[in-house]
Amino acid sequence: MSERVVVLGAGFGGLELCTMLSEALGEEIDVTLIDKNDGFVFGFSKLDVMFGRTAPDAVRMAYSDIAKPGVRVVRETITAIDPEARRVTTDAAVHDADVLVIALGADYDMDATPGLAEGGNEFYSVAGAERLAGIIPTFSQGHAVIGVCGAPFKCPPAPSECALLLHDELTARGVRDACQISFVIPFGTPVPPSPETSAALVKEFAERDITLIAGRRVSALDPGRSVAILDDGAELPFDLFLGVPKHRAPDVVIDSGMTEDGYVPVDFATLQTRFPGVYAVGDVATAGVPKAGVFAEGAARVVAQTLIARLRGGEPPGPHLGRGTCYIEFGRGRVGSVDIDFLSGPTRTGTFNAPSAALVAEKERFGSSRRARWFGS
Ligand SMILES: Cc1cc2nc3c(=O)[nH]c(=O)nc-3n(C[C@H](O)[C@H](O)[C@H](O)COP(=O)(O)OP(=O)(O)OC[C@H]3O[C@@H](n4cnc5c(N)ncnc54)[C@H](O)[C@@H]3O)c2cc1C
Repeated sequence: MSERVVVLGAGFGGLELCTMLSEALGEEIDVTLIDKNDGFVFGFSKLDVMFGRTAPDAVRMAYSDIAKPGVRVVRETITAIDPEARRVTTDAAVHDADVLVIALGADYDMDATPGLAEGGNEFYSVAGAERLAGIIPTFSQGHAVIGVCGAPFKCPPAPSECALLLHDELTARGVRDACQISFVIPFGTPVPPSPETSAALVKEFAERDITLIAGRRVSALDPGRSVAILDDGAELPFDLFLGVPKHRAPDVVIDSGMTEDGYVPVDFATLQTRFPGVYAVGDVATAGVPKAGVFAEGAARVVAQTLIARLRGGEPPGPHLGRGTCYIEFGRGRVGSVDIDFLSGPTRTGTFNAPSAALVAEKERFGSSRRARWFGS
């Protein structure tokens, strides 16, 4: 009987893992990939959706297009995970696994920030971005606040990108002079592992009259008064609030008893949890790397190589090095990037690459190559 691998979540981590297993082992392995949604959307596409550059349907990749030997994709909602028994219960079935990989990402905890759901908007979900695509064009004067409500959060450069793209949008409509933009972030700098990247972003903010409020997070909104309350008690009146909600592992993962401080602890090198045969990759794990797709993918590769080596009798892979490139929208169609290395050396590093036409093309390839590799389109 072939090894039963059950992969929970078809995001960056789950998709890369299943693709590698299928490429290497084909029908020799029995992989079940479970996701509650009907398709995948890149995180960066949410910015495109919110600023009306594209429609959600154009950026959604349908799971029904996945055709990989050895991999069965099922659309079910996971309701319980038993890591000791490696048993997963969904709204439709029970799945028993020899190897279980948790790749369920991070969810948003709207209730952690009182007033956010009623008085603000979030742009970190497709639904939130879609809603904002209707709201942003109606904002023509007053104070826009981009506010981060807790760390860690996905793709640390994303709220900086949001501020720069909002500036572009308001400028294009000829209303920028009637609007103020403020950006609240809990870190001391926009991209802490890379002082050069942070300095470049801070310069861009200054040139565009975007006020950066660093080292603070938004702890509540008062919708009645349209005021954002920061963690030091300061108040920021707003006419438009664009929020990054506090993140946490999905409830089903927390209820499984696998989490500590909101996420699943793993061995940074191997992505193994404390439960034999159970791995966790991507945003759901505390793995010593930022919460971003490239790192979810890198972690998934290590797990895939481990399983392939075990089944084929080869050498296990080296440790997860926590390396990856994050592309950053600088506005006016420009794209820069930061090469992150969190685990391979004694200190974490982030090397900045200034915006260039080559990076615009590279970001495009980043998306299209994964679309082709995972979805065959
Ligand atoms: C605005 C924005 C911009 C971003 N830009 C970038 C970028 O430029 N580069 C980059 O690398 N990263 C970027 N990211 C971050 C990136 O999207 C995430 O870090 C990445 O998707 C994490 O991958 P993952 O596999 O851990 O989880 P996810 O991709 O989130 O996948 C988790 C999957 O689990 C499923 N799921 C959850 N709960 C259940 C359940 N109970 N039952 C069944 N299925 C379930 C979900 O439907 C989802 O498909 C961005 C994110 C945002 C929000």
